[in-house]
Amino acid sequence: MSHVDAHAVREHLIRDGHTESGGAADVAVVNTCCVTQEALAKSRKEAARAARTHRRVYVTGCGANLAGETFSGLPENVVVVAKRSEETSAFVAGDVGAIGCVRAESRLDRVRAFVKVQDGCSFSCNFCVIPLVRGSSRSREAGAVLAEIARRVGQGHREVVLTGINLGCYRDRAAGYDLPRLVRAAGATPGLERLRLSSIEINHVSDALVSALRETPAVTPHLHVPLQSGDDRVLRAMGRRYTVATYLRRLAPLRDDFNLTSDVIVGFPAEDERAFANTLRTAREAGLTKIHAFPYSPRPGTVTAHEDPVPPDVKKERGARLRAASHDACIARWRTKVGRDDVVLVDRPGRGYGADYSPWLVDTAVAVGELVRVRAADVSEEGILAA
Ligand code: SF4
Repeated sequence: MSHVDAHAVREHLIRDGHTESGGAADVAVVNTCCVTQEALAKSRKEAARAARTHRRVYVTGCGANLAGETFSGLPENVVVVAKRSEETSAFVAGDVGAIGCVRAESRLDRVRAFVKVQDGCSFSCNFCVIPLVRGSSRSREAGAVLAEIARRVGQGHREVVLTGINLGCYRDRAAGYDLPRLVRAAGATPGLERLRLSSIEINHVSDALVSALRETPAVTPHLHVPLQSGDDRVLRAMGRRYTVATYLRRLAPLRDDFNLTSDVIVGFPAEDERAFANTLRTAREAGLTKIHAFPYSPRPGTVTAHEDPVPPDVKKERGARLRAASHDACIARWRTKVGRDDVVLVDRPGRGYGADYSPWLVDTAVAVGELVRVRAADVSEEGILAA
């Protein structure tokens, strides 16, 4: 979502006649993150650095919307934009002002296009700062989403990722769309080769969604479903709305062929060694491959803002164990592909992703942005090696 927000500002400025420059620009935009204290500290550091070398600096994104002192005391050429994501690009572009010839179109330089369909969250997980900085859930009109997808495909993007904070809450009531219907309609966009969801809460992995994913040919067999913890007591303390049994049951129809990835918080206040062992076991039973392990970081304004009893070295050690288990699960999945063909979307020189979002290492001569049919010869620590 932060990528989408940053690109919205970039696009608006480019449309208004500005040019991007690596370093020596008049204006810098620092799009910030506040998911951990470390992310916030890095965001402030970037803003301070940019203030020394740019005439004007705009600080946007989640960090800018977090109440507190993080960005206070910065030089006068820094403008902190504490606005909703929908209003941010127009504010920055309006403040900078349009110059020269205004362009109608600007293409994002990524192979895949992230299309925002929903923002904000009306759940209230006890650790999470997102509802405070992004507001409650709201959805874009389906017509606008589908028009943007068609525009991105026309610009040459091969893959579209439907992006939201809590995608399963997507609703366009006036037009009669929910997420499954949006997936089917998006997948029917002429010329679209790949369609994915950014991530989805397990409660929204319904029969209707699974059918839409399976019956839409452009949809790739990959789903990112945050687990956060694989222990019921910790899930309850987190204020998550599911049990381990629900998580496993809802993913069961997908685990044979979909590549299932996830997020886990390690070192949550209620997590003891037994609870962490349950997380390792649940990840295995669910068939998860790539797991992003985040050390718990108390966020201001949340229910658990003042609780952080698990020592940093324990969080670090649990994170390392989870990452090692995730790496083993990835390698095991990649090994099953040896000798088989796949189609890889090359998104960097020599690298790309197969249909199920497994990483591949391919011939560096293949142009970035190409879809290339390859056969798996072997696996390495970094991905599947093409023959
Ligand atoms: S963790 Fe996800 S579902 Fe829970 S409040 Fe945060 S954004 Fe919403």
